[in-house]
Amino acid sequence: MIIVLSGAPGAGKGTQADLLVSDQGYRKVSTGDALRNQIKAKSALGLEAEGYMKEGKLVPDHLLFKVLTAELEANKGRTILLDGYPRNVNQAKTLANLGGESQVRACVHLDVGQVELVARLSGRRVCGACGASYHVEYAPPGDGDKCTKCGGGVVQRPDDAADKVAVRLDVYQRETMPVLDFYMGAGIYKRVDGARETNIVFGDLKKVIEGLAKA
Ligand code: AMP
Repeated sequence: MIIVLSGAPGAGKGTQADLLVSDQGYRKVSTGDALRNQIKAKSALGLEAEGYMKEGKLVPDHLLFKVLTAELEANKGRTILLDGYPRNVNQAKTLANLGGESQVRACVHLDVGQVELVARLSGRRVCGACGASYHVEYAPPGDGDKCTKCGGGVVQRPDDAADKVAVRLDVYQRETMPVLDFYMGAGIYKRVDGARETNIVFGDLKKVIEGLAKA
């Protein structure tokens, strides 16, 4: 079973998915993380995707299909929290057509307003080694910009630079927001107000997901 975690860049999908993984034993599949791993490994797919990612643009659907199917295969039989896919209606249809074990049970939308998103993304920093997430103001890294979890160097993601953030939010509005309508039409859309504190959002998210298991 798949639960799609949807929301703009900076809405907290990755953070909330990590919390649900440690609390509930679900598996997180992040297409952004999978693509960054491909880039690190210097694979052909990673090299092709890198330019789009640096610019904050969407990587072509045929590459995402490869990434997605490999990740789903690796997590067979588990409840999957899908973070970062689908990002357009074509991808939503592709996922729906996979069917079987890959059926989408719900799309949970972490809803956060534009001003808050820009503040979160422009202050975000990540550990280059383990991927842990920080924020210059709300959750600063350790002394000397070191990761408090693994000691790695904490840096700004290239696509969190101000001009790239603007592109990503624009892409989100034009291409990804229609995906929410797609899931509304399918009767499986749920909204959670993502603008509140992490643990409060987490509590709500957990209730929504537990509700799915009972329904
Ligand atoms: P994320 O870590 O989810 O913010 O993704 C980082 C970047 O990876 C995005 O800005 C896109 O360039 C690319 N990406 C991740 N998921 C997708 C997707 N489903 N479709 C197209 N591009 C994607």
